Amino acid sequence: MTTATDLDVLIIGGGISGLTTGCYLAQAGLNIQVWEQADRPGGKIATHNQNGFLMEQAASIIMNFRPEVDQFIHQTGMEQYRAERLLHPQSKRYIMHKGQLQALPMTISGLLFSSLWSTSGKLRLLAEPFIGRTSSRFETVSEFIVRRLGKEFLEKAIEPFIAGTLAANPDTASASHVIPRLTALEKQYGSISAGIIAHKILGKRTARNPESFSFKKGMASLPERLARLPAVGFRSSHRVKEVLHKSENNWQVTAETPKGEHSLTARHVIISTPSYHAAHLLKPLQNELSQLLKAINYAPLSVVHLGFEQTAVSHPLDSSGFLVPRQAGMNINGNLWMSSVFAGRAPEKQLLLSSYLGGARNPEAVNLSTANSIDRVLADLNTILGIKQAPVMARIDRHQKALPQYNGNYSQRLSAIKQHLQAFPGLHLQANYIGGVSVRDRICTARRLAHSIIHSLDLLSQQKQPVSFNPQLLETVV
Ligand SMILES: Cc1cc2nc3c(=O)[nH]c(=O)nc-3n(C[C@H](O)[C@H](O)[C@H](O)COP(=O)(O)OP(=O)(O)OC[C@H]3O[C@@H](n4cnc5c(N)ncnc54)[C@H](O)[C@@H]3O)c2cc1C
Repeated sequence: MTTATDLDVLIIGGGISGLTTGCYLAQAGLNIQVWEQADRPGGKIATHNQNGFLMEQAASIIMNFRPEVDQFIHQTGMEQYRAERLLHPQSKRYIMHKGQLQALPMTISGLLFSSLWSTSGKLRLLAEPFIGRTSSRFETVSEFIVRRLGKEFLEKAIEPFIAGTLAANPDTASASHVIPRLTALEKQYGSISAGIIAHKILGKRTARNPESFSFKKGMASLPERLARLPAVGFRSSHRVKEVLHKSENNWQVTAETPKGEHSLTARHVIISTPSYHAAHLLKPLQNELSQLLKAINYAPLSVVHLGFEQTAVSHPLDSSGFLVPRQAGMNINGNLWMSSVFAGRAPEKQLLLSSYLGGARNPEAVNLSTANSIDRVLADLNTILGIKQAPVMARIDRHQKALPQYNGNYSQRLSAIKQHLQAFPGLHLQANYIGGVSVRDRICTARRLAHSIIHSLDLLSQQKQPVSFNPQLLETVV
């Protein structure tokens, strides 16, 4: 017998993970609410407009190769607000090499003829199809890449990518969680090259270049839109302080709000906060589960946005930016040329360059003063890009806990977490420390979780009415 509850599902946390899950559940006609402690939706994601420069605090680009993401953008009416890349998808990507920017080869033949690799490095790459699968159940990114493609490929291509996009260290990051597409190719086809060729022949989407996009008014438009959908039941300024398990599929959640304490009961509770907040909420319920969540590390990161006059920069900025290998010994991990990637990121005749400082490579950098951070970025950019004048705009977004690190034997950690959760039917964890940090991965994991909850609530027997998020209907709420 089930007890009557106020809601079908209560989601704690109104970042992209909580809101996308809420959207899928609301679409199926479930009675849900999303409680967020801040006074705005989006969590890490926020877009700031300063003197006509449109700057992203966290996610700035959605790299997509998943049809369900396209479908979600379409269903929520966000398609019309998409900002497409100004650059051709095959345009150059730069990497720092011997003190200069060098285009990263984007094809296999380009890879083999590039001056980026030494002769022995190229021979090592050619040996990849002949390397057998590993018997080890766990490998770090460095172990996996060195085994399959050699140390040079790790240092010149993979390490800068992992540091620049995930703020991670390949020596500690779990290969199967951080580069899952590469480890899956080995698992399925025996080698990465065989997998790429097989995918090309079969025309699988993963073998193609992913498309990348944002939104015309910035990334925050997505969570803002989802939070405005009435069926999603978004409530800001609701800081959850207690999650009580009353009986099977009956949870009581209490939040502090500007109007005092507020409690509701729900059949399912989804905790969509960072793991350290989830650990705090779950401590009274299950200490071991709480400890497993608490032990997940987050890398700190600063995003330093600088605006320049177009005439101040000599480089043509004909790419999305560049990544920096750790051997280069520079301050920044990467530099994104935002005004080259999307329209409307800088005023006319001006440029926006966003640099990433810190991460697992240099965690102390997040504590640098504003002036010091800008000086370090400029020390790197001045010669590489031929900068002749001082910036006309500067902004720093500091994240003390930017991105969860999928370090060590992460599968084991997730299995243990899953096992503990089995004792609490109706309790779920859905945030960027499970299933990938990207917005793409957040949408895909939200969809999977929502489907399993909808299934468990036996939607049909309750005769719920699915809600349509038809773009025309949405115009009334945006
Ligand atoms: C600098 C940076 C650059 C990035 N760049 C990209 C990129 O280009 N592309 C990409 O795809 N991804 C990128 N990402 C990753 C992506 O932005 C994040 O992984 C994603 O936004 C995290 O979403 P989330 O909902 O899981 O967590 P969060 O955004 O952290 O949301 C969690 C929410 O829970 C709330 N909360 C916490 N405790 C409580 C409580 N007790 N009660 C109520 N609410 C609570 C918080 O206030 C927060 O709003 C980047 C991240 C960073 C930091």
